[in-house]
Amino acid sequence: MARNDKRKSYQMREINIIKDFMPNAQGSCLIEFGRTRVLCTATVQNQAPLYVPEGTGWLTAEYSMLPGSTGTRKARERMKYDGRSIEIGRLIGRSLRSVMDFTAIPGITITIDCDVIQADGGTRTASISGGFVALYLAVEKLIEKGQIERSPIKKYVAAVSAGMVGGTPLLDLCYTEDSSAEADMNYVGDEDGNISEIQVSGEKRTITGKEFTDLLMLCRQGVDRIIAKQKSVLEHKKEEE
Ligand code: UDP
Repeated sequence: MARNDKRKSYQMREINIIKDFMPNAQGSCLIEFGRTRVLCTATVQNQAPLYVPEGTGWLTAEYSMLPGSTGTRKARERMKYDGRSIEIGRLIGRSLRSVMDFTAIPGITITIDCDVIQADGGTRTASISGGFVALYLAVEKLIEKGQIERSPIKKYVAAVSAGMVGGTPLLDLCYTEDSSAEADMNYVGDEDGNISEIQVSGEKRTITGKEFTDLLMLCRQGVDRIIAKQKSVLEHKKEEE
C-alpha cells in the first residue's frame, strides 16, 4: 500500500528535537514527528506527594492539545478535562516512571507537561519520547546544582505507533493513515528492547497473532531509532544509519 508521503512501511517520519525550547522550565524540548509537533516541559517541585514512600519522589504528567492544533478547533479544557487527555497524561506518566528509580529524588516531584501545537497522528507517542528528553534535561540541572547526587533515570524510553492499514502493517501513522487504520498499536519501550506498555486496539477488526507480531517488530525498530535520536540530542552520540 502506497503511503501519501512515499514512506516505506517501516519508515518513520522525520524526527526533530529542539532541546531547551522553553528556558523557564528546568527541562524542555520541541519534538516533531513530521507534521506532529509537541512542546514538552519538565518542572521540579521540592515536595513529594503524601502517598509515596518516605525517601522517594514522584513523576506525574499532563497532556493537552491547543485549540488550533487540529483541523477543527479543539475546545480548551477549562472546567473539565476530556477523558482522552486524562488517559494520555496517565500513559505518559506510567511510561516515564517505568525507567526511574525514585530513591534518587527523595522529596521531589517532577511534572511533565506535553502540549500539542500541531496534531497529525502519534501525539501521545511523541509526547512520551519528548517528555523523556525534557525529564533528562531537568535531571541534569538537578545534578549540576547539587540538589541530587545521582540520576533517577535507569534507561532511555521512547514510544511509537504502528497500525494495519489496508492489510499492511505500517510504522508511525500520520492522521490520514490513523483514521483509515483497521487496528493500531501504541508501543512504549526502553533502550534494551524491553517493553514498558503496549496498547493495541482493533477498532475496525480484530487482528491475528501474526499481525500483532508484525506491528510489534516495526515498533521495536522504531523505538530503537527514536532512542538513537534522543541520545544524539542529549549526549551528542552519533546516530547509526
Ligand atoms: N485528533 C483530532 N482531534 C482530537 C483528537 C484527535 O484532530 O480531539 C486527530 C489528531 O491529528 C491526532 C489523531 O487524530 O493526532 C489521532 O488521535 P489519537 O486519539 O489516535 O491519538 P494520537 O495518535 O495523536 O496519539
